[in-house]
Amino acid sequence: MAGEVLGFVGLGQMGSRMAARLIDAGHALVVFDPVEAAVAPLVARGARRAASPAEVADLADIVLASLPTPDVVRAVGLGPDGVLSGQRARRFVDFSTTGPRVAQQVAAAFEERGRTSIDAPVSGGITGAEKGTLAIMVSGPRAEYEALEPVLRVMGKPFFCGEKAGQAQVLKLCNNLLAAAALVASSEAIAMGVKAGLDPSLICEVINSSSGRNSATQDKFPRAVIPRSFDFGFTTALSLKDVGLCVDEAGAMGVPMVVGSAVRQMLAVTSATFGPGSDFTNVARLVEGWAGVEIGGA
Ligand code: NAD
Repeated sequence: MAGEVLGFVGLGQMGSRMAARLIDAGHALVVFDPVEAAVAPLVARGARRAASPAEVADLADIVLASLPTPDVVRAVGLGPDGVLSGQRARRFVDFSTTGPRVAQQVAAAFEERGRTSIDAPVSGGITGAEKGTLAIMVSGPRAEYEALEPVLRVMGKPFFCGEKAGQAQVLKLCNNLLAAAALVASSEAIAMGVKAGLDPSLICEVINSSSGRNSATQDKFPRAVIPRSFDFGFTTALSLKDVGLCVDEAGAMGVPMVVGSAVRQMLAVTSATFGPGSDFTNVARLVEGWAGVEIGGA
């Protein structure tokens, strides 16, 4: 893999940080994003600008992507100006969270043309993307995974999830359902405690030493809800997309998700109330409003 040119499509919150790490690690990088403000900082760091995903794939051996939705992944991978129409790249690695179906569709189209598409959704947020500590869930041919491992290690810790396209996407949806469910359930529990006169920091401290501890009580409440900053760094729109994908895929697989459906509705109401661009910790504010309390610092 040494000496191979890398491409990166989708330079948003996650992609820009992952691409910057690749440049800092010494990789030659070709980049594309329709938003100029996303491209310019990476070009200033030494990346080469391309005019489309197809041009990225004309200039690079491996194309990486971090994109917002399944439709955008389908267009970037398989569309008229997409990666598959580029001449040089043989490998496509998709870090986006877009569910197993689009991963399977893209992988099949690449395989038909003698190329490989790997799904590699990530967890760890923008801090993980910046520090190179993401959990990277990978599915696809094992030999391809092994060949890509040194590049993936620049961005985090890769986990091989299986050879079947989309398996890593399923695991990522399972994780994000649990993260959102923990946030919703913790909001209800902590609002109740506060209404009874308990201090929210004490509630978290005790729960974190007890069996109810979870990612919301350990991280999201102390960092973004109790200080009232609501800036954990993950939008309600993205969480709603992830949980929606999860519940839909589970339904298609014959796995009923009663709790998952309730979590999805809570995120939908949070989005309608505070806007899709709001931080998803605003779920707590929704519960606060209904309960008539504020989960604030002492
Ligand atoms: P983002 O919206 O900040 O970035 C998406 C980027 O894709 C934007 O720069 C946008 O201009 C670009 N884009 C849109 N359409 C495009 C197209 N047709 N061609 C090329 N580029 C296009 O989103 P993000 O927060 O960086 O998330 C990216 C992916 O990573 C999502 O699937 C998300 O679910 C996942 N994810 C995000 C986080 C997080 O904390 N933000 C954590 C883990 C996983």
